[in-house]
Amino acid sequence: MDTKYIFVTGGVVSSLGKGIISSSLARLLLSRGYRVTIQKFDPYINIDPGTLNPYEHGECYVTVDGHEADLDLGHYERFMDTPTSRANNVTTGRIYQSVIDKERRGDYLGKTVQIIPHITDEIKRNVKLLGNTGKYDFVITEIGGTVGDIESTPYLEAVRQLRWELGQNALCIHLTYVPYLRAAKELKTKPTQHSVKLLQEVGIQPDVLVLRTEKEIPASMRRKVAQFCNVDPDAVIQSIDVPTIYRVPLTMHAQHLDEIVLRKTGIEPEGEPDLHRWNHFLDKIEAAKEEVKIGLVGKYVELQDAYKSINESLFQAATYMDRKLSLHYIHSEKLTAENAGEKLDGLDGVIIAPGFGQRGIEGKFHAIKWCRENDVPTFGICLGMQCMVIEFARNVLGLEDANSTEMDLKTPHNVIDLMEEQKSISNMGGTMRLGAYDCVLDPESLTAKAYGTDHVRERHRHRFEFNDEYRERFEQGGMKCVGKNPDAHLVEVVEIPGKRWFVGTQYHPEYQSTVLHPNPLFIDFVKAAIAYGAEKQAAK
Ligand code: GLN
Repeated sequence: MDTKYIFVTGGVVSSLGKGIISSSLARLLLSRGYRVTIQKFDPYINIDPGTLNPYEHGECYVTVDGHEADLDLGHYERFMDTPTSRANNVTTGRIYQSVIDKERRGDYLGKTVQIIPHITDEIKRNVKLLGNTGKYDFVITEIGGTVGDIESTPYLEAVRQLRWELGQNALCIHLTYVPYLRAAKELKTKPTQHSVKLLQEVGIQPDVLVLRTEKEIPASMRRKVAQFCNVDPDAVIQSIDVPTIYRVPLTMHAQHLDEIVLRKTGIEPEGEPDLHRWNHFLDKIEAAKEEVKIGLVGKYVELQDAYKSINESLFQAATYMDRKLSLHYIHSEKLTAENAGEKLDGLDGVIIAPGFGQRGIEGKFHAIKWCRENDVPTFGICLGMQCMVIEFARNVLGLEDANSTEMDLKTPHNVIDLMEEQKSISNMGGTMRLGAYDCVLDPESLTAKAYGTDHVRERHRHRFEFNDEYRERFEQGGMKCVGKNPDAHLVEVVEIPGKRWFVGTQYHPEYQSTVLHPNPLFIDFVKAAIAYGAEKQAAK
């Protein structure tokens, strides 16, 4: 069959959850046996979000092939259960860079290079790249931003042209917001009508409207929207707030989104999607009553999206362990030696978050010291692992002022330092150790047992590394380097054997945890936290 292209645009406001709608549709189509991928086109000029502060766009996600990507790619993977790659995330910066490179090479043969057709052609070429591999029946393209934004205009023009060229092989889903005015006790569809009008002005007629709402939208109101917007009444779908994003595929299926998409792209739907395993997960969410209390020590705690993949990995692990996740954010900047006990007591497990730079770092050391001394299950991720190493050096090995050279260039004990190859790099973008690398684990380690194998491949995003010159001293002092990269011999995992659960990973296991395949290390950490919680309860 021809590859079908589904475009997902958004209107009225941002943050409506285009990523979740795209992911939910992908889940439904995959569960019907189709081959599906999702790509995100972001209208900003950065080449990738790698250099963006989390305050700007939340977490930076990393693909297997080492692309620093928009966090929506994390949703795609968690819902689809298949990896994405660099090709799944394109920005205006990448489009312009490619066009400018072509111009310098002389590819445009003396023509004036313009937004239309050169930028739009480059967008169209990129939209079709994954489809042209022949690997997919459906390519879902999420257009970042909101209709009406100046920066989105070239993308919408590309979508308009593609719809024209692809005919029935293309379809446009537009997501809008229907606000509820409390004072008037009314839902309002006018913003949706305006938003669709904006789309129509640029020549795009949406085929499906998804209305995000906090209250049930009556059928009569949906019919009215259909009539005003030239959309079939059954193709006006509501997306009402649900307790978990993982329920959205079901609410979309209940309103036949998958069947509508199939029919409109010329496919007669057969049977039902097989959501057996997905529903099993949802049942577990519903059934979980008891809590597991996890603390997350980091500096971006006021921002939910900064640790998105960690939150989701913990949620998945807790759910599979029949627990409700109770996640407590602990601001590392506010942690001191004096208040660490007060802030961390009562938690069943603690995560020390990844990050960059000096801010909040001392608080992480205080948290780790308290957790280590009180034998609380502790999981350090990337910078969190590096902090575990530094804290151990200072407080157990007696290496005063030990540090990472990221924080203190003049430290007498650079237990975390730059790799040789990193030292000459001056550009910030895309120059870290990025993407999936092999890791060989000591078969006796807790980590190997958690994974059930001694060979794993996990994703990285960092510049600094454990300094091998100190390895012997750490091992003698009780912190073991149990995971190593087989090629570069870099230390990837440290553990303190004898503790309940004290593991630090240089890699980010949270980038590889999906609903259908939760990450084993998160499962094992949550298991240890539950056991510790039960132990404390019994001792009371
Ligand atoms: N800042 C540290 C480094 O660059 C850790 C990065 C991270 O936690 N992702 O090595």
